[in-house]
Amino acid sequence: MDTSKRSPMKLINEVPPIKVDGRIIACEGDNNPALGHPIEFICLDKEDPAVCKYCGLLCARPSSLGVG
Ligand SMILES: [Zn+2]
Repeated sequence: MDTSKRSPMKLINEVPPIKVDGRIIACEGDNNPALGHPIEFICLDKEDPAVCKYCGLLCARPSSLGVG
């Protein structure tokens, strides 16, 4: 199996983004607390989706997802 084509970005894109209503979301990495994920505040000042640098959680404003 050739895994060289699977970039981190590709992996992230396979996870549906969560919708964020406000400007800031606090990600605590609840999928796997054992990883020592600190509380990461992700700022969504832009319309672009943002990614948590610790767990790769993708979050986006509803407007950038085409809903609302
Ligand atoms: Zn996270």
